[in-house]
Amino acid sequence: MNRNKNYTGIDCFRLIAALLIIAIHTSPLSSISETGDFILTRVIARTAVPFFFMTSGFFLISRYSQSPEKLIKFVRNILRIYGIAILIYLPINIYNGYFHMDNLLPNMIKDLLFDGTMYHLWYLPAAAAGAVIAWYLVKRLDFAKAFLITVVLYMIGLFGDSYYGLSERFLGLHNLYDLVFQISDYTRNGIFFAPVFFVLGGWIAECGKKEKPFLLKKIIFRFILNFFLMFCEAMTLRHFHIQRHDSMYLFLLPCMFFLFTLILHLNFNLMNKLRNKKHDNYLQDYFRTLRSVSSIIYIIHPMMILVVRLTAKLLHLQDLLIENSLIHYFAVCFASIAFGMIFSLLYTNAYRIHSAPAKNRAYIEINLNNLEHNVKVLREIMPPQCELMAVVKAEAYGHGTFPIATHLNRIGVKAFAVATIDEGIALRKYGIRGEILILGYTDVCRVSELRKYDLTQTLICFEYANELNKQCAKWKARTIAGSRYKMKTHIKIDTGMHRLGLPYNNLEEIKELFSMENIEVTGIYTHLCCSDSLLADDVAFCEMQTDRFYCVINDLKSNGIAIPKLHIQSSYGLLNYPNLRCDYARIGIALYGVLSTPDNDTILKPDLRPVLSLKSKVILIRNICKGESVGYSRTFTAKRNSKIAILPIGYADGFPRNLSGGKGSVLIHGQRVPIIGRICMDQLIIDVTDIDNISVGDTATLIGENKGEELSASAVANGLDSISNEFLCRLGARLPVVVEYT
Ligand SMILES: *Cc1c(COP(=O)(O)O)cnc(C)c1O
Repeated sequence: MNRNKNYTGIDCFRLIAALLIIAIHTSPLSSISETGDFILTRVIARTAVPFFFMTSGFFLISRYSQSPEKLIKFVRNILRIYGIAILIYLPINIYNGYFHMDNLLPNMIKDLLFDGTMYHLWYLPAAAAGAVIAWYLVKRLDFAKAFLITVVLYMIGLFGDSYYGLSERFLGLHNLYDLVFQISDYTRNGIFFAPVFFVLGGWIAECGKKEKPFLLKKIIFRFILNFFLMFCEAMTLRHFHIQRHDSMYLFLLPCMFFLFTLILHLNFNLMNKLRNKKHDNYLQDYFRTLRSVSSIIYIIHPMMILVVRLTAKLLHLQDLLIENSLIHYFAVCFASIAFGMIFSLLYTNAYRIHSAPAKNRAYIEINLNNLEHNVKVLREIMPPQCELMAVVKAEAYGHGTFPIATHLNRIGVKAFAVATIDEGIALRKYGIRGEILILGYTDVCRVSELRKYDLTQTLICFEYANELNKQCAKWKARTIAGSRYKMKTHIKIDTGMHRLGLPYNNLEEIKELFSMENIEVTGIYTHLCCSDSLLADDVAFCEMQTDRFYCVINDLKSNGIAIPKLHIQSSYGLLNYPNLRCDYARIGIALYGVLSTPDNDTILKPDLRPVLSLKSKVILIRNICKGESVGYSRTFTAKRNSKIAILPIGYADGFPRNLSGGKGSVLIHGQRVPIIGRICMDQLIIDVTDIDNISVGDTATLIGENKGEELSASAVANGLDSISNEFLCRLGARLPVVVEYT
C-alpha cells in the first residue's frame, strides 16, 4: 500500500537524501576542494542515512503496537529488497574476485549480517536490525527509556567511529573495539547506529500532535545551531586525525531531531498551499513517485557509477565524465534518477495488472481516491477553524477500519470517533495517532486501558462521570501514586434527543465535571436528532437544540470556565447547518460518500463519491427450462427457458436476505439483472438470460458502479426500509477488503 500522500516534505527530502548518498560515494567536490568535499560528503551528507532510518521509525515505531505484524512486514520487505540487491550486484562481486578472498565463509556471513555484500548495502541489514531493536525496546519500556538505551548504544558506536582515535590512544579501548571489528567493519551498523534514529522517528510521531507550528523559527534556529556545532565537531576531529570512520557525531543526534521536525513542518505548510490548488492530485502523484524513486536510487547508484565510467571509456570522455568530479556526480545522479523513474513506472503498471476478482469469491472494494476526495470537499465546506473528526465506528461503516483509518491518518486527519473502547484500542494498534473519542459507554473498570491507549471517553451522565473519577483515583493509588494524570473526557450534553448526555438545564452538575480531580474535560458536545430533515418543525427543533447547547457554553463561560473543544454536527448537521461555531465536525456516512437515503435534500450538496463497492463473481452458469423452480422453498419458477448464474455471496456476508424475491438486482456487463429465488446464507442466484456472452469468472457488482450503471447503497437500503448506514455496517464479517488506490 502506498504511504501517506500528505508527507510531501518527507518525500522531497527523500530525494535530496538519496542524492546526498550518491555524493558520499562519488565525492563531487574532490577535484575542486578537498575540505569542501569533506564538508559536503562527511558532514552534510551524513544526515541522509539517519533521515531514512527516522522516516521508517516515524511510520513504524509506536508504543501502542503490540502485534508485531507491522514490524514483520517491514523487515520482510527490507530483506526482500536486500536479497534482490545482493543478486543485482553478484556479477560485480564475481568480477571483483569476491569469492576468491581468504576466509570466505566467515567474511561472507559478516558481510551479509553487517557490512553488506556491496559497500552501500550495509544499510539494509542495519535497517532490519535497527527496526527490531527499537521496536522491542519501545514496546517493553517507554520512549524515554528506549531512547536512553539506544543513545548508549550510539555512544559505544561513536567511540568506534569518528572518536576512535580517542578510544585507541587515550582510553585503551582498542582491544575491545578490535573485537567488535571482527564481526563488523564499522560500528555504524544495525546495533550501534540505526536503533537510536528509529526510536527518535517514532518518538517524534508520537509527540507530533503536541507540536505547535508557530515554533518554526525556533526549530530552524536550533537546527542551524546544532548543525554548526556538528560541523565544528567534524572539523576538529578531522584536524586531530581522530576519526576512524566519519558517520557518527555527537551533534548528529540533536541535528537530526531538529532537521526531521523541520521537514515535518515544511510538510504542513506545503500541504496547506497545495490544498488550494486545482491540480493538487497531480502534484501529489509526483511526490508519491519520489518515494519509490529515491529507494531505487539508493540501491542502484553504485551500478550507475559503473555505467557512467563505462560510457565515459567507450566515448573517450574520461576527462569530462570521470576526471571532473562535479560532472561525474551529476552524470551519476542523472542516470540513477532516470533509471529510478523508468523502473518505478514499469513496476507500478505491472503491479496494477493483477486485480482482486481472480482470487476472491466476493469482496468489498474500497476506493481510497474517493475517500480522499470526500475529505477534501467536506473540509472545503467546514468553517476554517473546524476540524474533521472521522467517525470510524463499526469497522468504518463496514468499509474496514484498518485501511480507512490508516489512510485518513496519513492524509492528515487527526481526530477519530469510535463507539466502543475496543474499537479505540484497535485504532491505536493500527498505529493511529491523534485524538480518539469514544462516543459510547465504557465500563469504568477499564480506566487503565483508557490511559494506556490515550483514548478520550465521553461522559454520558453525571453519575457515570463520578464513577469514572472515583475509579481513576483508586487505580492511581494502586499503580502510579502521586501522579497528576487526568483522564481525557468529552462531556456530552442532552439537548433534546434524550439518549446519552447530561441534561442541558442541569448546569450545576455540568460545572462540577470541570472540577473533578481525576478528569480533564477536553471537549463538550451534543448530537442533533433530526438534522437530516429540512421540514420546518425539524429545523426549529435543531435550532432549539443548538441554542440550548450554546446557552450551556455561555453559562460555563460566565462562570469563568475555560471552554474546551466544541462539536455538534454529524454528516447531515454539516450539510444542513454548515456555519455552526465548532471545533470538530463528527463526520461518518458522508465521509464514505453516500447519504443515508437516496433523495434526501440538503442545503449543501458537495460532490461526494462512494468509497465502497461490493463485488462477486459468477462461478457457475446453468440453463433451466420453462416451469422449473430455483432455490429454497421454490419461490421462483422460470416463465421461459432461462440461463441462471450463481454468485458465491449470501446473507452471511451481510447481503440482506430481504432482497430475495426480485427485490434485489446486480450489475453485470453494465446491465441490471434480477436476483431470483431466496438469497441463501452463502450463495445467491441471478437471471442472466438476457446477457450475451456471459461466462464463469465474470464480475458482478452488487453495490457500486459498472459501465455507467450504478447501484447505490442508499437506494438498496431504501428498498429495505433501512438506511445506507445500517446496510453498510452489516457487510463484512466474512468479506475481504480490497483497496483501490491510484
Ligand atoms: C455515529 C455518530 C456520528 C456520525 O454520524 P453520521 O450521520 O454517520 O455522520 C456522529 N455523532 C455521534 C454521536 C454518532 O453516534
